[in-house]
Amino acid sequence: MKAYYDKDADLKRLEGKTVAILGYGSQGHAHAQNLRDSGVDVVVGELPGSPPWQKAEADGFKVSPAGKATHTGDVVMMTLPDEIMADVYRAEIAPEIRDGSYLGVAHGFNLHYGQIRPPEGVNVFMVAPKGPGHIVRSLFARGEGVPALVAVGQDPSGDTLQVALAYARGIGAGRSGIIETTIREETETDLFGEQAVLCGGLTALMQAGFETLVEAGYAPEMAYFECIHEMKLIIDFIYEGGISNMRYTISNTAQYGDVTRGPRVIGEAAREEMRKILREVQSGEFAREWILETKAGKPVFNALTRKGEEHPLEEVGRRLRGLMSWLAKDRLVDRDRN
Ligand code: NDP
Ligand code: MG
Repeated sequence: MKAYYDKDADLKRLEGKTVAILGYGSQGHAHAQNLRDSGVDVVVGELPGSPPWQKAEADGFKVSPAGKATHTGDVVMMTLPDEIMADVYRAEIAPEIRDGSYLGVAHGFNLHYGQIRPPEGVNVFMVAPKGPGHIVRSLFARGEGVPALVAVGQDPSGDTLQVALAYARGIGAGRSGIIETTIREETETDLFGEQAVLCGGLTALMQAGFETLVEAGYAPEMAYFECIHEMKLIIDFIYEGGISNMRYTISNTAQYGDVTRGPRVIGEAAREEMRKILREVQSGEFAREWILETKAGKPVFNALTRKGEEHPLEEVGRRLRGLMSWLAKDRLVDRDRN
C-alpha cells in the first residue's frame, strides 16, 4: 500500500488553475473552503436559488450553475449526491467539460458502475476523504486532516496523479495520509463498510440493544445511555489507540463480557449476511437497486428513514441531550450554517 503525505504533494500543480466544486453540500463546502485556505482559486457550482447556493455566496465564493462552473474550471470536482450525479453530468457537465481538464469524484460509485463515462481526452481522478465533510472542514481548521484515498481513472495528460495529490493536500489529507488505491477497490470497500459496519451495522446494533432492554421493562433513558450515548465514549478510545486501548480502560468485568459475548452477537449468521452484502456490492446488484430506487422517487429510502426518525430512541435522546448543555455548543453539524 502506497501512502503520500504533504511532502509528496506539490500545491504548485494547482497554480494558475481554477478548481470548480460542483455541489456545496457535506463534502463540497469542506473541499471548497479548505482549498481556498490552501491558496487555491475556487469557484462553486450549485442549483440557482437553493439554500446551499446562498451558503456558498455567504462564505464568499463565486457561485454559478454547474455547467458554467464546469466551463470555468480546469479541475472539476463532482461533490454531488451519487444518485443524481450521472443526470447532472449528462445535462450540465458533459457539454462543458474540456479535453485536458481534470474531472474528480469523492467516491467512485458512478465511474465504477459505468454511469459516467468521461471522454478519452479528460483526465479522471478520485480523492475520497475517509470521513464526513463536516469533519474534513473542522479538522483542517485545527491544523489536522482527514485521510483520503486517491486513484486515477484515466490519464491522457500524464500528470493526473500529481494533480490529484495536490488536490488531496489542499483539503488537508496529506497531513494524515493519502493512500493510493483503485476506483473499484474504493467503491466496493466504501459501500460494504457503510452498509455492514459504519452506518447500517452500527445503527441496527444500537437499536436492537435499546429495544431488548426496553422490551424487558427497563427505563428507555437507561437503555439510551447504555446502548447509544456511551457508544461515542467507547469509539473515542478505539479511534485513539485501537480495540486494545479501549479494553485497557474498561473494567475487567466489561472486558470479560466483551470478549466472550461479542462474538455471540455477531456470530456465523451475521458473518454470512456480511458476505452476501459484499457479493451484492461486487456484482453491481446493490448499485442497480439504488439507481432504480432513485428513479422511482426513493419510496423505500423515505419510508425507512421516516420509520427511523419515529423510533422512540430519538425522542428519549432529544430529551436527554437537552440536559447536557455542552452538546449544543460548537456542533460539527449546524444545519443553518453548513
Ligand atoms: P450532499 O448531498 O451533502 O451535497 C450535494 C450538493 O449538491 C447539495 O448541496 C445539492 O444541493 C447540490 N446539488 C444537487 N444538484 C445539483 C446540481 N444540478 N448542480 C449543482 N449542485 C447540485 O452530498 P455529499 O457531500 O454527502 O456527497 C457528495 C459526494 O461525496 C458523493 O459522491 C459522496 O459519495 C462523496 N462522499 C461523501 C461523504 C460524506 O461524508 N458525506 C464521505 C466521502 C465521500 P441541494 O441540497 O439543494 O440538493
Ligand atoms: Mg463512505
